[in-house]
Amino acid sequence: MSNGSSRPSSILVVEDDAGDFSLVRAQARLAGWVLSEKDPVIWAQTLAEGMATARREAPDVILLDLSLPDSSGLATLRAMRAAVPDLPIIVLTRVQGLSLVGDVFEAGAQDYLVKGQFNFDALGRAVRHAVVRNRLEQKIAVNERILATGIEAIDEAFVLFDSDDRLVFCNEKYRSLYAGSADLMVPGVTFEHFIRERVKRGQYSAASGREDEWVAERLAAHRQSNIQLLHQLDNGRWLRIVERKTADGHIVGFRVDVTELQTAKEAAEAASAAKSMFLASMSHEMRTPMNGVLGMLELVSATELTSGQREYIELAQNSARSLLVLLNDILDLSKIEAGKMELEHVKFEPRSVLSETLRALSMCAQEKGLAIDLQIDERIPDFLLGDPTRLSQIIINLLGNAIKFTLKGRVTLAAAVEELGAEGARIAFSVSDTGIGIPREQQGAIFAAFTQADTTTTRKFGGTGLGLAICSRLVALMQGQIEVDSEAGRGSVFRFVVPFGLSAGTADSFQPAVPADLASDVRLRILLAEDNPTNQKYAMAVLANAGHSVTLAQDGEEAVAQALAATFDLILMDVEMPRLDGFGATQAIRAGGFASPIIALTAHAIPGFRERCLAAGMTDYLSKPVRSRDLLSKIAQIHGRAPDRALATEALVPVAGSQAESVAPVLDTAYALELLYGDIDILLMLLPIMPDQIAADRLEIAGAIAGKDAVRVRKASHRLKGSAGQIGAIATQKTCELLEATAASGNCDAFVELQQQLEADLDALVPAIANYLEKCSAATP
Ligand code: ADP
Repeated sequence: MSNGSSRPSSILVVEDDAGDFSLVRAQARLAGWVLSEKDPVIWAQTLAEGMATARREAPDVILLDLSLPDSSGLATLRAMRAAVPDLPIIVLTRVQGLSLVGDVFEAGAQDYLVKGQFNFDALGRAVRHAVVRNRLEQKIAVNERILATGIEAIDEAFVLFDSDDRLVFCNEKYRSLYAGSADLMVPGVTFEHFIRERVKRGQYSAASGREDEWVAERLAAHRQSNIQLLHQLDNGRWLRIVERKTADGHIVGFRVDVTELQTAKEAAEAASAAKSMFLASMSHEMRTPMNGVLGMLELVSATELTSGQREYIELAQNSARSLLVLLNDILDLSKIEAGKMELEHVKFEPRSVLSETLRALSMCAQEKGLAIDLQIDERIPDFLLGDPTRLSQIIINLLGNAIKFTLKGRVTLAAAVEELGAEGARIAFSVSDTGIGIPREQQGAIFAAFTQADTTTTRKFGGTGLGLAICSRLVALMQGQIEVDSEAGRGSVFRFVVPFGLSAGTADSFQPAVPADLASDVRLRILLAEDNPTNQKYAMAVLANAGHSVTLAQDGEEAVAQALAATFDLILMDVEMPRLDGFGATQAIRAGGFASPIIALTAHAIPGFRERCLAAGMTDYLSKPVRSRDLLSKIAQIHGRAPDRALATEALVPVAGSQAESVAPVLDTAYALELLYGDIDILLMLLPIMPDQIAADRLEIAGAIAGKDAVRVRKASHRLKGSAGQIGAIATQKTCELLEATAASGNCDAFVELQQQLEADLDALVPAIANYLEKCSAATP
């Protein structure tokens, strides 16, 4: 039967009753289908014959009686349907009733006719209906097949649940993924039942021990409309689960096997963490010998040197310090990247952290003739909880850059309250400068490691491109954000906002403040437990120079034995030593009843170190490289005294000034600032009163020499020596020292030559002081 015509070209009637067959044929004739030249009606009297004919002739439609000699009831229909799955079948029945109608449709018929009750018109309609319906059903079946083969062909597991969360369909891949639950995968099973059963069978390793919770979480995720999860199956494979809700409430799910991807990701992460750990431990290990090098250089530079030697030593010191800075940067960055950087959460005073940090860099700014200032919002609480060391590290980096990239103008550090609540405060810090600025297109890149805004930067300004990478990672660790606002040629503003906890009360007392400026000369019996020979020499020389008596222990066990055998006022304890480390040694020493202070010496910058020291029974600690003044002031502080200034001065290293021809610099303000722990305010207070004192002492010395009064010469030169040393007037200090010694020996003949030298020193010193003061006042706003 073609699409347009309503006349079938062949009708197979499977009917054993000749009378019933004649009735059908009569109606077909009435319908006008039986033409003289061709009769479309074919007759078969048994099911077997009907099936054979249907297969052979492929009629347009089959009229099928269900009660035949060789078959009866729905079995007849099912058999015919199976024999010719794609031909339309109209059932001929004597029974009227809905149940039959339902059954015949279910069993594959397209329509039915009740025998004796249809005319040609009803026959025509039934045939047309059956043919059209069959065609549509075929089309649907084809589409379903295409869809199903498509879904089977994809490499991923597919599953479909209906709006009641019952399984509608899943593909073979899905079955094979959940092979251990193949028996559960029958259409109609609910997702919840499926999951619960699998958990019961131990098929989700992640669920073990928290089954109910796991099921609840999984169901909650499943009920959301869009999810992506990563699950590991009991067989170790990783699945990415993607589920989407359709508009009619079905849930379509994919399971993508990402085991290879996941393994590769884990391997890459492990490799990256291993690289960072390697870098961290290498830079850590390299710091110890670097400290030794720096310490020895400091000692060498404290000895008599020619100007050439001093210059070489200074170059070596500068290189060693740069290398140490680089090592520290790499250590920091790799620690952050390996996830090993832990922040402290201690009480601190933000105002003093900011002013100390600014002070540390103010000298560099002033040397470049830059004004540097600090603006602190008065609403900032007196105490905050957070990591002051890292905060100061970020600011030092930003200030350092601001000073480095600014040739004239001003650098400003500002801190303001962004948000202040009962629980905490968000503080906005900014470092702005009037420097070269950063072109917009380069601003995105500067926070990446080893990146500089333009390639000429290293040549012109130096640097490694690590500073901002560390800053941005530290800020992120602190849960904050950092941003830059800059324009080429117009300066830059780096701004970061970080949250802090709030805390009432006073600051933590463990970390000492800058030592008090007192003088006292107490000899202590010190046990030094240190295994590194360079560090041993350095510490012993510094301590001996300071007048202390030092006993050396080569390792932790020796330290325990010595500490318990003799009397010591103090122990300096290296942490990493052979046989027994500093913590173990300290515990044993404390257990043996030793009550005096024990100071740890460590190159470890690890979080929680302070707590470990305290727990082991240590009193305090010093980080390596240990600067001589820090060591002495720590000792003095712990023993309730400030360092002996004269001794500390000897242990410190005056840095040569610009006068390359002279061994001792006229005015070494950097050295003076070191003595003052960077407190430029005190230096700026001392310098203006110096010229008057110099004039007075100069007259006194000249008079005493003229009168050959050795006692007066000794006293006056002693006094001038003290003041000169204090401000970094090294040349004057040395000449005074010689004069003093000469006077003490009573050799008045050498006075004249030394006096000329002193006059020359002072002639250079007075204008140097004036120059320095002028430079500082020009730089201050
Ligand atoms: P480094 O200073 O060691 O090169 P940083 O990571 O601290 O590395 O800075 C990266 C780059 O960002 C610098 O090389 C410079 O080009 C640019 N930069 C940073 N701060 C400033 C600033 N205040 N003014 C101008 N350029 C800056």
